[in-house]
Amino acid sequence: MRITIIGGGPSGLYFALLMKQLDPANEITVYERDGPDDTFGWGIVFSDQTFSYLRDNDVETYQEILASCATWDNVDVVLRDQRVTIRGNKFSGIGRLKFLNILQSRCKKLGVNLLFNRNVTDLDDVEPYDLLIGSDGVNSTVRRIYAGGFKPLLDTRLNKYIWLGTHRIFDALTLTFRETEIGPFAAHSYKFNEDTSTFIVECGGETWERAGFDSLSDEETCEYLERVFAADLNGERLLSNNFLRWFNFILVRNDPWRHKNIVLLGDALHTAHFSIGSGTKLAVEDSIALANCFRQTADVERALEQFERIRKPIIEEYQEAAYASLLLFEEMSENMALDPVPLAYRLMTRSKRIDYEKLKKRDPEFIAAYDGWRAHNRA
Ligand SMILES: Cc1cc2nc3c(=O)[nH]c(=O)nc-3n(C[C@H](O)[C@H](O)[C@H](O)COP(=O)(O)OP(=O)(O)OC[C@H]3O[C@@H](n4cnc5c(N)ncnc54)[C@H](O)[C@@H]3O)c2cc1C
Repeated sequence: MRITIIGGGPSGLYFALLMKQLDPANEITVYERDGPDDTFGWGIVFSDQTFSYLRDNDVETYQEILASCATWDNVDVVLRDQRVTIRGNKFSGIGRLKFLNILQSRCKKLGVNLLFNRNVTDLDDVEPYDLLIGSDGVNSTVRRIYAGGFKPLLDTRLNKYIWLGTHRIFDALTLTFRETEIGPFAAHSYKFNEDTSTFIVECGGETWERAGFDSLSDEETCEYLERVFAADLNGERLLSNNFLRWFNFILVRNDPWRHKNIVLLGDALHTAHFSIGSGTKLAVEDSIALANCFRQTADVERALEQFERIRKPIIEEYQEAAYASLLLFEEMSENMALDPVPLAYRLMTRSKRIDYEKLKKRDPEFIAAYDGWRAHNRA
């Protein structure tokens, strides 16, 4: 089969290596806009469940990924200088660039044709294909070109966010809330190697405008946010890489997922708010699900039909959970009026995937503090 993949992010690369593994005769070309080391962003998060999928599907990349991960067990919530720790939540972090480099070298080894610095704007310019994959991210060109087929629903959300790094090591997945005279800010931070953490800052659109971020340079932006989070950074700087930009989160849905012999994967197909840390997990799991369909049948139409039928309900459930989380951050001011313990409880249960009983099992001490707060506030 001739497979042409637009976008060499996690979903495109992982699908390429799985399909080459499935049948070395598959002719696979990946077009990537950027160079192999140019990626935006810092670290990404994986759960234990994603690791078991990675292990079951390609043990070689799994071992390398595992060796490059930092792990942690806690979620910390910081509000008005008080830290609440919730134990028993195992996650791992890895640098996005490291992760992509591992997938790139595995693809090369298996014989995938990786073409870097190739920004595809016209699909007549790519190799002829039996299957075309649009794994070109949230602003997908493939989706735009075939918008009539995919009928995308794009919902641009209210908050602004920026993806930064820091050498301050956050040993837990830390959610920090800071009130300032111009409005509230939140930071999502976690370590992803021994000396670097991801530090994503989020704020409402009005706060962003009052701060004047649109006219600040990269350096001024980092300095501003260092002042907001001075108490959290222990004197460490905030770092931008070659891609410093504020975004509005775009909630992406498509219906249908396939058009003729073309299918979307990862962020091009669906997004889930980054506060539940699942974007890369979902992208990679899409690739695994689609490759599994090709294990059952070599018929492109049938494989794509099966992929949509099996995978769509799973994604819809995630998007629902992530939406509840997104709202919690859009309603930051109201939530910051809570005490730290109930705020932490609300954050932990926001996606409805974890409830009181699960939390009690994971961290009885935290639940005891929560019960104590409830009893006190009922009195
Ligand atoms: C602030 C922020 C924080 C995040 N935190 C996490 C996290 O903690 N954990 C997590 O799992 N996920 C996180 N994500 C989400 C994660 O980055 C994405 O969900 C994931 O990378 C999706 O993978 P993908 O392969 O679908 O798309 P991308 O990673 O976006 O890859 C798409 C690729 O396509 C290329 N491309 C685009 N257009 C073209 C074109 N026309 N021609 C050729 N190439 C093209 C791009 O250069 C890119 O390399 C975060 C995202 C953001 C924005």
